[in-house]
Amino acid sequence: MSEITPLPPGSTIGILGGGQLGRMLAMAANQLGYRCIGYAPAGDNVAADVCADFFENGWGDTSALASFASQCDVVTWEFENVPLSVVDAMPRDRLLPGRRALEVAQDRLNEKRFVEELGARCALYARVESDDDFQRALERIGNPGILKTARDGYDGKGQWRITSDYEAKGVRFPGRTCIYEGMVDFQAEFSVILVRSALGEVRFWDSSANTHRGGMLVTSILPASAAVEAQVEQARIIAEKTANALGYVGILTLEFFATAQGPIFNEMAPRVHNSGHWTIEGAATSQFENHIRAICGLPLGGTETRFNQIEMRNIVGDEALSAHHILAEEGEPHLHLYGKGQALEGRKMGHVTRVSNDHP
Ligand code: AMP
Repeated sequence: MSEITPLPPGSTIGILGGGQLGRMLAMAANQLGYRCIGYAPAGDNVAADVCADFFENGWGDTSALASFASQCDVVTWEFENVPLSVVDAMPRDRLLPGRRALEVAQDRLNEKRFVEELGARCALYARVESDDDFQRALERIGNPGILKTARDGYDGKGQWRITSDYEAKGVRFPGRTCIYEGMVDFQAEFSVILVRSALGEVRFWDSSANTHRGGMLVTSILPASAAVEAQVEQARIIAEKTANALGYVGILTLEFFATAQGPIFNEMAPRVHNSGHWTIEGAATSQFENHIRAICGLPLGGTETRFNQIEMRNIVGDEALSAHHILAEEGEPHLHLYGKGQALEGRKMGHVTRVSNDHP
């Protein structure tokens, strides 16, 4: 394929999932003259506020899925745990980034094997299907380590940290396939975010250094430390190989630990990512816009960083209730609130990005 026909303005983009990532994707799509419709089970579907129409139906509702699919010129997702049965109900030739990406990334064991075959290094890990497997994994890998459900975990949910033999005794196999990973002694965490077009063009954003608390992203900072900068190139090679192997179209994120032994792959997200929110104000083109451009066959936008200093910080739980105060702070902070109804503890409610050219 040497050419693709772009989707004309007014075309309809279907988004599976209704969270903040879908909301920001739809906002970028609207700016480019597209119409978005969303689909997700009943809940706090904040993407619905900015979509022309929103299907609040179960993932098993085949007639609603068929009606949704029939209205879409292209279908994408904002959430990697969309059941495969749902993507199979979408027109395969109009589903991007493509089914295989979702299949690989929905399972931590699959994604680790996939990137290892492409040359990535991972923490020591073992599949855990029973208490006996867990004991064997503990004997082989030891502690500290983390037991994680292989599927459906996010923001540190479905994870049990084990830092001593005593703690190991208190953790039981949770009854679903898990992975036990040795704890990585890292200098920093970073992500590689790329966009790949249907013609195979790949562009990267600069990698931010990411900090986490309790398994959830807290901040993304640019420039990242020297430890990260030294390892980004190797990590990009893995990310690009992954995107090419999947025939990927859109935004792909791979998370890494920077260690004394080089980059260690942690996980991938076949979608726009929280650690790329800084690109809205901080880069020539945001991750959201470039995802839309890629899936609609438009030319990709530049990914260059436009400021010397950037910090994106998540606004979590009831901190959102007083977040408008941030607007009075110096330095013109960019506030994004997602419009979620309940400011529950540990829930991502918004983010704030601060950019400056003050300290070259
Ligand atoms: P995950 O859901 O796998 O991205 O894990 C969430 C966060 O927990 C990561 O960003 C790290 O901060 C931490 N973490 C997860 N796995 C490991 C590991 N094997 N070693 C050290 N820290 C980890």
